[in-house]
Amino acid sequence: MIPAAFDYARAESVEHALELIGSRDDAKLLAGGHSLLPAMRLRLSRPSLVVDVGRLGELSYVRDAGASIAIGALTRHHDVATAPLLQEHNPLVSYVAGLIGDPQVRHRGTIGGSLAHGDPASDLPAVVLALDAEIDVAGTGGVRTVAAAEFFRGVFETAVGAGEMVTEVRVPKLSGDHVWSYLKFRRRAQDWATVGVAALARRNGAIAEPAIALVSMGAVPLRASAAEAAWAAGDDPGAVAANGTDPPSDTNGSAEFRRHLAGVLVRRAVEEAEGR
Ligand code: FAD
Repeated sequence: MIPAAFDYARAESVEHALELIGSRDDAKLLAGGHSLLPAMRLRLSRPSLVVDVGRLGELSYVRDAGASIAIGALTRHHDVATAPLLQEHNPLVSYVAGLIGDPQVRHRGTIGGSLAHGDPASDLPAVVLALDAEIDVAGTGGVRTVAAAEFFRGVFETAVGAGEMVTEVRVPKLSGDHVWSYLKFRRRAQDWATVGVAALARRNGAIAEPAIALVSMGAVPLRASAAEAAWAAGDDPGAVAANGTDPPSDTNGSAEFRRHLAGVLVRRAVEEAEGR
């Protein structure tokens, strides 16, 4: 389908983008366009103004920020996947960015767009949740930092308010004793996850600080806290992986299938992490 008519403006800076996005209640930012444009073509989204931030080079970077790695909101998935700083200090993020969609999607889609879109089937939201990442949200009043655990509010709903934009994501540097895995089950190579699992822990003799986050098991990415406790205790995390989840039933699978799949994938992810 063809999108409804809209005005288009290209932002020249973050300040200019905020000014433009604040000028109309239904204005939308355009980053990589790989989620917004399909939604507009289906007329699920009908902004009267599209503010193009895709060329804002000032928000495309991967930087060393001391204890963390800072990633600009407009950094493309391909650049996240291939950034040497992430490959060295947080290979979980770069590995997962490299699994998104296909090369075309990875060369256009951005980390900020992926998080701000709030799709519970997307990969990076679960990863930033497992990592306890911080997300900077800018508005005309300044920048506020939102913890990943507070960021995702519902299906396509996040902590980003009207007139605001995500500017930066900070993920921690992992240490030598961190072990991790990301597994996603999908019906075709380029599909979104039917269920995805991010698993992360420190292994120094015993497993400590376990984090397991689930994709497509509810309205938002979820921490599987019972599975985390089971992992730390040496019990079977797969047996309790679906506790507290509310997975959808759709063409990719029923809720019951997803609960089963979560158990299988959590068990495999923990095994893979421990074998790393
Ligand atoms: P856009 O489409 O430009 O924007 C998406 C939404 O976020 C819009 O509402 C926009 O206004 C808002 N937005 C964008 N940037 C910001 C910002 N900085 N601050 C505030 N709001 C902002 N994703 C996966 O996770 N896994 C997959 O396997 C996967 N496969 C895909 C396959 C295909 C064929 C396609 C088309 C997409 C796929 N995606 C997948 C989604 C892809 O990763 C998108 O690029 C991403 O979700 C959105 O990023 P974007 O930069 O394209 O955002």
